[in-house]
Amino acid sequence: MRKKIVAGNWKMNTTVAEGVALAKAVVELAGQTPDNVGLIVAPPFTHLCCVADVLKGSKVELSAQNCADHESGAYTGEVAVNMLASAGCQWTILGHSERRQYYGETDEKLVEKVRLALAGGLKVILCVGENLDQREAGKHFDVVSEQTKNVLFNFTAEDMKSIVIAYEPVWAIGTGKTATAQQAEEIHACIRKVIAEKFGEAVAEDLTILYGGSCKPSNAKELFAEKDIDGGLIGGAALKADSFIEIAKSF
Ligand code: PEP
Repeated sequence: MRKKIVAGNWKMNTTVAEGVALAKAVVELAGQTPDNVGLIVAPPFTHLCCVADVLKGSKVELSAQNCADHESGAYTGEVAVNMLASAGCQWTILGHSERRQYYGETDEKLVEKVRLALAGGLKVILCVGENLDQREAGKHFDVVSEQTKNVLFNFTAEDMKSIVIAYEPVWAIGTGKTATAQQAEEIHACIRKVIAEKFGEAVAEDLTILYGGSCKPSNAKELFAEKDIDGGLIGGAALKADSFIEIAKSF
């Protein structure tokens, strides 16, 4: 059985004190979630060490929201994988649409980042997803397949054990518009097929694929009931511990 995961992407929200309080609240409620559902929080870089302390001994794992595309050196403002690992991260999100859209993150750069993350012992949540124009032009399957191939076909079946994919249609992120369960399921099934073609059925069957885009307690149950949807990457609804935990109880 592949792993179910609910991950909270806090984006550029909360002060350190607010982030610590949110992490504490998540830890307090984490016991209400099923044992087979993994929980991850992804606070801003500045919060990682403090939040790592709060998460110690709980089932909640820690993720960064990004990492540098170099190992170390003269890259002002960047944060390297070994820094994230030493701050207590087990994961990093990579390729979020906001990084692709506002910070010029390309698939080529992502190959390097995934390589460095895995080499440094971090697991990766790789985000893919089409924008509204691409969906309206009927190109969503192609766009998502290409993003998946461009990055992940540079890796091995063994590497895939440390990678989770998050399908996040850009038109659904932070907009209140959720993909229907059927729209999400058909893309998840497509991603799994792409992975199966390259790495084989067993790797594809084991791959956790999350849905992200205005996922909340009121729609999580329907989305998570789909056979290829293994959980969620949650933005807005992860900023309140009770809604984040409610989502994780929706399986
Ligand atoms: C996200 O940014 O990863 C996300 C899914 O955001 P939201 O849940 O707010 O749409």
